[in-house]
Amino acid sequence: MTTTKVLLDESEMPTRWYNLLADLPSPPPPVLHPGTLQPVGPADLAPLFPMALIEQEVTTERYIPIPDDVMDVYRLWRPSPLYRAHRLERALGTPARIYYKYEGVSPAGSHKPNTAVPQAYYNAAAGIRRLTTETGAGQWGTALAFAGGQFGLDVEIWQVRASYDQKPYRKIMIETFGGTIHPSPSTLTAAGRAVLEQDPASPGSLGIAISEAVEVAAQSPDTNYALGSVLNHVLLHQTIIGEEALLQLAKVGDAPDVIVGCTGGGSNFAGLAFPFLREKLAGRMSPTIRAVEPAACPSLTRGVYAYDFGDTAGMTPLMKMHTLGHDFIPDPIHAGGLRYHGMSPLISHVYELGLIEAVAKSQRECFEAGVRFARTEGIIPAPEPTHALAACIEEALRCKETGEEKVILTALCGHGHLDLAAYGAYLSGELQDHALSDEAMSSAVASLPRIPA
Ligand SMILES: *Cc1c(COP(=O)(O)O)cnc(C)c1O
Repeated sequence: MTTTKVLLDESEMPTRWYNLLADLPSPPPPVLHPGTLQPVGPADLAPLFPMALIEQEVTTERYIPIPDDVMDVYRLWRPSPLYRAHRLERALGTPARIYYKYEGVSPAGSHKPNTAVPQAYYNAAAGIRRLTTETGAGQWGTALAFAGGQFGLDVEIWQVRASYDQKPYRKIMIETFGGTIHPSPSTLTAAGRAVLEQDPASPGSLGIAISEAVEVAAQSPDTNYALGSVLNHVLLHQTIIGEEALLQLAKVGDAPDVIVGCTGGGSNFAGLAFPFLREKLAGRMSPTIRAVEPAACPSLTRGVYAYDFGDTAGMTPLMKMHTLGHDFIPDPIHAGGLRYHGMSPLISHVYELGLIEAVAKSQRECFEAGVRFARTEGIIPAPEPTHALAACIEEALRCKETGEEKVILTALCGHGHLDLAAYGAYLSGELQDHALSDEAMSSAVASLPRIPA
């Protein structure tokens, strides 16, 4: 049995992020102010974000240099390894070659610090003292607590109640890194109190937690808000994953035929895929690029493409995206990071352009893939990337039927060491798949804001 672990020297680490906006055939629709319905300008976003990040949100420069102080922190775990999954391939009996880029080596155990670190850096450079944010499974909160600590910022986090109760170790990890954490909905904000009045037992959602964190940041001049996915600057920072993977695959002389990644808000998927999409748009490669989402929260495959709020209370600007409706509350599935009602506007746009595909997977099939991966490759994946692995295995088994020797690339965007309760539920047969009814879908979509054409 061979082992292929492709490493880069620190000196080979990419020193710039890639901005897909430079290369798209048409720009995404503008973000709108919810009051005026006019495109938002920098002044509208200034209460929440530092100017450097607002500029990264809209720039069409192809490459953005990574600041030295960010590179220094990245070097704690980057470049991350690329593995070939020889043992999984053999277990499947597939002629396909499967590669995975492993982001579980970071301080948080996922890709999230790739953007938490620059976000903390730019906020600290702008004189901000405190960051607020939401977190689902706890990965983003952990990443921002770590990154804030590196640059002397206080970090205050609202965690979706369902995950707060399921995953107590994330709270301890966040506090160990120096962050403060509250379950959401909380009584600390008007947004949280309004939800609790309607439903005192609300399991929460990312949309509600965002409303709470935005409300607190908007009220205090030394406090900004940080988002762990969805926005263009977040996707931009994550492209370090794909830039490294391009160099690593070149070292072993392979190019991907299929790229699969799990999508919550879309950042790890975009981070891996966008540099390859640049190569595809330039005619240098032609991979099929496939997003994988949970069947319980299927924004790309079953949502509508419409202007919607990013949060539940309707405080954020309106973004055109694939959405299930801002008050859609998905079943409390274990892949907490994939329980978001919308999809990144940039990924939604790229999907509309036909540059990527999307599929949805139910959680039992995903955990089956996760266990199979753990037993062959020796890494227990976070519940989120088990979605990508399920699609990887599906593709590899298709290759077994057709005899095609495709190269499949995926992002193993995090480990599942703090998600073992979910594996326990799966192994004991307790894990259920809930079908999402058309009625539940249409009632959530009915509350979309009306935008005149
Ligand atoms: C946050 C998270 C996700 C979902 O977010 P994306 O922006 O879609 O990447 C997926 N996997 C892991 C491990 C996460 O922490």
